[in-house]
Formats: sequence, structure tokens, C-alpha cells
Amino acid sequence: MGNTGPAELLAIWEAGLAHHGPGRALLLHRAARPGAAAGELRSLPVGEREADLYALRRALFGERMQVRAECGACGEAMEFDLDARHLGVRPRGQDGPLRVEEGEWTVEFRLPTVADLEAAAHAVAEAGGQTAAEAGGQTAAEAGGQTVAAVGGQAVAEPPGPSDGDGLLDGDGLPGADGLLGADGLVGADGLSDAEGFLGADGLSDVHGFSDVEGFLGADGTPDAGGLSGAGGDAAGDTSADTADTAETTAAARARRALLVRCVVSVHRSGRPVPADRLAVAVAGLPEAVQRRLAEAAERADPAADVTLNVTCPACGAATRAELDIASYLWAELDHWARDLLLDVHLLATAYGWSEPQILALSPLRRRYYLELCADG
Ligand SMILES: [Zn+2]
Repeated sequence: MGNTGPAELLAIWEAGLAHHGPGRALLLHRAARPGAAAGELRSLPVGEREADLYALRRALFGERMQVRAECGACGEAMEFDLDARHLGVRPRGQDGPLRVEEGEWTVEFRLPTVADLEAAAHAVAEAGGQTAAEAGGQTAAEAGGQTVAAVGGQAVAEPPGPSDGDGLLDGDGLPGADGLLGADGLVGADGLSDAEGFLGADGLSDVHGFSDVEGFLGADGTPDAGGLSGAGGDAAGDTSADTADTAETTAAARARRALLVRCVVSVHRSGRPVPADRLAVAVAGLPEAVQRRLAEAAERADPAADVTLNVTCPACGAATRAELDIASYLWAELDHWARDLLLDVHLLATAYGWSEPQILALSPLRRRYYLELCADG
């Protein structure tokens, strides 16, 4: 995480504007692992990337994540804090493929990599005429869930909590900085970032794993979701046969099949191996119960690949499942931060005649202080 000064981050943000989900995730991943080549990053298990992105996020913006979601039942807007310290558990080291035995089936598979997800998303987009974004939307709807959004501007606009682990960019946490707050009216650039929207529209990145369709896996990977009811227990309960049947026809189901075809190494039925040339057909036709076992095994081996929160609505009490997509979340935060920073540069350059590099070289605390002075003057 060496190259994460303001100028470098602005460059990453600028490059990311030309991309969508997967491209942006890759740029962020590069920022988290500066030395790694793109191919190397793509070949990592998905949870490995998520762990890298959580680490980058903590370094940049601190340990508290403010998220928002809408109640699936009554539409109530919910905002809550997450303790990000324990999010993003790295996948366990694996010797050889994972194995699932269910009925007459024995299936060996490996954990999906970033490249697998991208390929699955492309397969859906090409086969269906339905975009992956639509597929993702359907997925969320079927699961009764959604993707949580970042609460914009928290990194620069919020005073620190008592035990806030402040990140590099969170100048507010510096001693004595509290008195300087109140400049939010001056630098609050919420309007500027509205066009980008928040999460869920990133299209291809919406394919997250084997469990994407029914979403029956709980939030076992989110131990410290403060204020949230622990999920996971309701797992298989909400998957009705009807839901599964409907899902078969969706792009999300096709995405999962494409992912399985890529990641399944071998299939045995009643002890007999399925020949390599028929493997893809066999995998695509695996019974629901086997696919569910595969999703559960993948979840256990790589919990960070699919972090899902179960949020209880304070208004109506209903539970809403919300996926925490760290790449989209971090991008939204970076986008907000960058637009705020550019406005700061504009104001300071106008007031003092300083150059962009000079302004970016200021600490967040000094930048804010000068902005206060501009506002007072
Ligand atoms: Zn509600």
C-alpha cells in the first residue's frame, strides 16, 4: 500500500472513471498491492481481493464503515455503522481442490478467482442479451436483498468517534482538528458526486459467487456487524422451490452455472467419473442440493468473497439481506473524496494562487484550515 498519497489516489480515481465494476475493482486492487501484475491479481481467489480491498479501505478511511440500505419490506432508509476491523477474512490456504459429496454425486472444485467472476459475467451478457447489471438486480430482488451503499462523504465530513481508527485521508481525526469542522458547508460537494450514483449499477461486478442466485448463505463472515442481527441462521429457510425454479430462468442462474463450469475440477456420479468432454454439461445439470452444498463449501473456505449483512428494519422489524461489495463501496468513497478534494484545490488555487501539487502536498488539516480562512475572509 505504498502509493496511496492524495496525488496517486486522484490518478487512480481518474483512471477509474473510464471503467465500470471489474476495471475499477482491478485499479483499487492494484493500489492495495502495488507490486502485483494484473494477471496475478485476477488469478487470486475472490476473497483474497476482498481482503486486500478491506485493508486498503481501512488504511485510507479508517475502521468504521457507514452504510445504508433500504428495507425490503417497507422501504425505510436505514443507515448504520460497521466495524470494518474484522471484515475481509482471507481464504484459508487450500491444498488441492475442495470436495463435496451429496447423494450419488462427488464434486471437486476450486475457489472462484476474480477472472472466473469476470468470465461468468461476460458469458451471461453474451448469452442472454440481458446485462449483468440487470442480472444483479434480479438477483438482489429474488434474494429479498440488495447491495448496501456507502454513506457519502463520511471520510471528510464526520468528526471522529472515540475509538475511531482513522485512515490516511481522514484528516478530521488529527488532534485539534475538531475545532476546524464546520467548513462542511463550504466544501460539502454532495451535488457533484450525485451523477455517479452509488452502488449496484456497476454491472459486471454483480456476479459474486456460487451462492449469488438464491443467496441462502448468511453473514458468517461479518462477526462484528454492530447493530445488526447476526445472520446465517436463516440460511436454507428462505429458499423455496418456487424461488429456485424462477431463478433457473434468470441471467443470475446462468452466471452461477458458468462459474461452476469454470471452477469444477471433476465430477463423479455413483463412483464413476464424468468424462472431461461431458463435464460442462454434467456441471450445468447438477441438482439444486449439490449446487447448494458447493456454495456452502465455497463460503466456508472463502468467507470474504461474499459478505452479506442481515439488517433488521427499525420501523417494521423485517429483515433485509444486503450485500456488502467492498469494491463498489470503496469506489463510491474514493469518488466522493476525489470530488471534494478537487473542489478544495479549486478554492485554494483561486484564493492563494497555489498549484495543484502544492495544494495536494498540504496535510488535510492544513488544507481545511486554509479553507476556513477563505470562508471567513
Ligand atoms: Zn421496514
